[in-house]
Amino acid sequence: MKYQHINKHSKQLKPFFLPLILIAGLNHNAQADVTYQDQQNLHEIVKQISPKNIEKDVISLVNFGTRHTLSETESDTRGIGAARRWIKSEFDAISEKCGGCLKVYYQSQIIQGESRIPNATEVVSVIAVQRGISDPNRFVMMSGDIDSRVSDPMNSSSDSPGANDNASGLAGTLEAARVLSQYKFNGSIVYAALAGEEQGLFGGKILAEAAKKDGWRLKAVLNNDMIGNIAGINGVINNTSARVFAEGTRMTETPEEARSRRFTGGEVDSPSRNIARYIDWIADRYIPNLDTMVIYRLDRFTRGGHHRPFNDLGYPAVRIMETNENYNRQHQDLRTENGIEYGDTLAGVNFPYAAKLTSLNAASLASMAWAPSPPAKVSIKGAVQPSTTLNWAALDKKQNPQLAGYKIYWRYTDAPQWQYSKFVGDVTEYTLDNVVIDNYFFGVASVSTEGYESPVVFPGAAGAFGE
Ligand SMILES: [Zn+2]
Repeated sequence: MKYQHINKHSKQLKPFFLPLILIAGLNHNAQADVTYQDQQNLHEIVKQISPKNIEKDVISLVNFGTRHTLSETESDTRGIGAARRWIKSEFDAISEKCGGCLKVYYQSQIIQGESRIPNATEVVSVIAVQRGISDPNRFVMMSGDIDSRVSDPMNSSSDSPGANDNASGLAGTLEAARVLSQYKFNGSIVYAALAGEEQGLFGGKILAEAAKKDGWRLKAVLNNDMIGNIAGINGVINNTSARVFAEGTRMTETPEEARSRRFTGGEVDSPSRNIARYIDWIADRYIPNLDTMVIYRLDRFTRGGHHRPFNDLGYPAVRIMETNENYNRQHQDLRTENGIEYGDTLAGVNFPYAAKLTSLNAASLASMAWAPSPPAKVSIKGAVQPSTTLNWAALDKKQNPQLAGYKIYWRYTDAPQWQYSKFVGDVTEYTLDNVVIDNYFFGVASVSTEGYESPVVFPGAAGAFGE
């Protein structure tokens, strides 16, 4: 969101305002009262994402004929089995080029007795993990889906190219792995090719449950589902906008947490929302000709995607996708009717646009994985006082040797993005003098010595990213 700086309130704020250091490289789109250190590495990562590679991979995926979850698994050229073996071999090849930097594995479970998977079927995702150097148990993830479908969700034999839904998101995930695997990060990055999406979000459920069981400190899931269509059903053609869907209050909120939120706020500051704000800023700062629309909703109206199983377990997770959808190209039998071509074919994927959204993912993942862990146990006080005090737990220095300190952010309660920031050093408490708690929302980010920042953490259970 290129939200131009303020507005009606700025005059009354000035007299209290703290001196700010504006760091060189501040992008003209960034807020005037937010400091930020431009990162050359992120610009380089963005430039390396290749539309050609994405095109090649989407074509390979389409050429499996169908990738329906219930399709055949024996053939080497057609069906879901051939598709997942090809994905595994691609991740293995990427890993080979970085000296085995990816741990690549199948993650599977037998599903049966479900409306769209009645008979026992092995649902098999392909996962690649790039282990972090200092904090390997902290994860950020990019995902796309393997499977495709036509009009009847149970039709497992007809041609179902699934070029945009969702070969585009999966090809993007492979390309992000190709580029990011050339770098080393503090935290771990997961590249997930998730299975069984169209049949009931099964691959996501299986991975989210495994993450919980294995105690992953999963801080962000960037699920990419349809990132290549630029010609909307409404006639709009636009390649400069993308959507980031992020839920409000988290699914796992307890009644006590809801009661506390009623008095302190947090409805618009779930960790998923603050991941979305983070991605929005990465777009403004690093991706030429791309603006993101942060959408205050779990997903499209009544529809679903693979970020949801992660939200269901309380993990921060968002859906990244095109702004302009074409329903004639989604979940349709290949046919021409009344002069309209139906079906999810290669013609509906714009590869430079898919690359643009992939570069947004890659820069966001890299920035978070280089940054220290998001601050934990953030709390705030300041009722009936002229000032606001935040405190948080000190981050572990072994896990976060790159930590320089912490940065407080705040904004007016009706503003979509953080508007003010102050780097406060390596402390665990800070008081903002003459900033009245009632009139703003606040949060804390951690900052590395190079200036990489974690997402902003809103105080209390409503905004927590966990330990
Ligand atoms: Zn779909």
